Amino acid sequence: MARYIFITGGVVSSLGKGLMAASLAALLQARGYRVRIRKFDPYLNVDPGTMSPYQHGEVYVTDDGAETDLDLGHYERFTGVSARQSDNVTSGRIYSQIIQRERRGDYLGATVQVIPHVTDAIKEFATADTEDLDFVLCEIGGTVGDIESLPFIEAIRQLRNELGRGQSISIHVTLVPFISAAGELKTKPTQHSVRELAALGVQPDVLVCRCERPLPESERAKIALFCNVPKSAVIPALDASSIYAVPLQYHAEGIDTEVLSAFGIEPEGSPDLSRWTEIVDRQTHPEGEVTIGVVGKYVGLPDAYKSLNEALVHGGIANRVKVNIRWIDAELFEKDEGEVAAALEPCHAILVPGAFGSRGAEGKIASVRFARERNVPYFGICFGMQMACIEGARDTAGIAKASSTEFGPTDEPVVGIITEWMSEQGLEKREEGGDLGGTMRLGAYPATLDGNSVVSSIYGTTEISERHRHRYEVNTGYRDALEKGGLVFSGMSPDGTLPEIVERPDHPWFVGVQFHPELKSKPFDPHPLFASFIAAAVRQSRLV
Ligand code: GLN
Repeated sequence: MARYIFITGGVVSSLGKGLMAASLAALLQARGYRVRIRKFDPYLNVDPGTMSPYQHGEVYVTDDGAETDLDLGHYERFTGVSARQSDNVTSGRIYSQIIQRERRGDYLGATVQVIPHVTDAIKEFATADTEDLDFVLCEIGGTVGDIESLPFIEAIRQLRNELGRGQSISIHVTLVPFISAAGELKTKPTQHSVRELAALGVQPDVLVCRCERPLPESERAKIALFCNVPKSAVIPALDASSIYAVPLQYHAEGIDTEVLSAFGIEPEGSPDLSRWTEIVDRQTHPEGEVTIGVVGKYVGLPDAYKSLNEALVHGGIANRVKVNIRWIDAELFEKDEGEVAAALEPCHAILVPGAFGSRGAEGKIASVRFARERNVPYFGICFGMQMACIEGARDTAGIAKASSTEFGPTDEPVVGIITEWMSEQGLEKREEGGDLGGTMRLGAYPATLDGNSVVSSIYGTTEISERHRHRYEVNTGYRDALEKGGLVFSGMSPDGTLPEIVERPDHPWFVGVQFHPELKSKPFDPHPLFASFIAAAVRQSRLV
């Protein structure tokens, strides 16, 4: 039977609970255990798919087509375990299921209540489909004390009882702030937070104390005394030089042995951390650096492009170079074409990432033009592929009015909405102007690559599977015109109807993909497209 690790946060948000869960899972995995991480989000949205990236950062898409919290991206990047729909649940999803059941009369006349109906649903979610696992790590979003998180804490309390002794532990992540006027680290917020959690019936077994400065032994002892945990279970967590150094740092502080001993398991030997030391070595001793211009919309908020940012870092790890990302607001170019060259000239490669809506689109098209004309490596992801096709249509195929129906009615819909396509579940249908939530082409779809293409040599295969999240597709009616202009359709859906990849074979590196390769990149297994793109940037850096 799987053992459960419940992870809560206290004092403030943004303590890196997700990273800590991912790192702990990686350490347990490095000891040979099978792990899975789940995220409970207390907000009322059914999923984060409809939330603005400004609100919630990136929406992470799983193979099975779930739109989930960005923490699931960390989980996958640290463990390599593919996340599923069943690994992320929100209060919104739970309530919407309960209300549907209530309307159907499934509760047979009972009064439907938070306890037991909501808490039962949470427990079901935590324990479903865990037979083949040694450890299930469940991270509760938000901070202890939030009204929204109460049913989740209550469900943990019940579950800990039901699972029985030795089957679950609780880890609480808190902040130990440094008060400069006093010149001291303060433990009181941690004490209060643990007291709050304990009042809800959950006594933590391990405390992870985020702090800016080393935690003196005396303060560690004080936290242990007041919070009712062994001193060795008070784990200091200082900021790390790179997120990929975090597993090593937590191991050095003893978290994996502490967690095992909280379960009554005698730790055997040490975990195999070679993959992490290799990654950190490549990051700390780079043999060069490149600058990548990312022309996007949410450039003020790096979390909006979390996986992209990480995949570029992985491309750097693969090539042993430091990757500097220059975030460029596409709207800058819309107002002034002259700005394009000034912003892009210092870049060794240009990337246009996924996006929605027309804002900034002309600036992105101008960036594609710059990359094509100046022979600078170009990588277009989803929206970035669509803009590469519009640019190709306008500038190399003579279709001056080329546009996307996403921007309004057009006579030349080089990019248009798809209303029908095949998925593993059968024929999928969409209506123009339908609901926004959960109505995109989502999740993993296969693609077949042309055996003579650049991308098939990058992938080393002609059959791939990548994750999607979009409503619009490049219109195959323009394929001939675009190919005559040098933009080749080198990857298609297996039935040949949907363009998946375009490339310019006569350009140093010019690839557009309809999917999101960044979602599958791992630090220990960089995505081939990102590894190849950064290699092209390295070549470019030697030219300029
Ligand atoms: N807005 C575009 C579409 O819906 C692209 C989406 C994306 O880049 N993820 O097709």
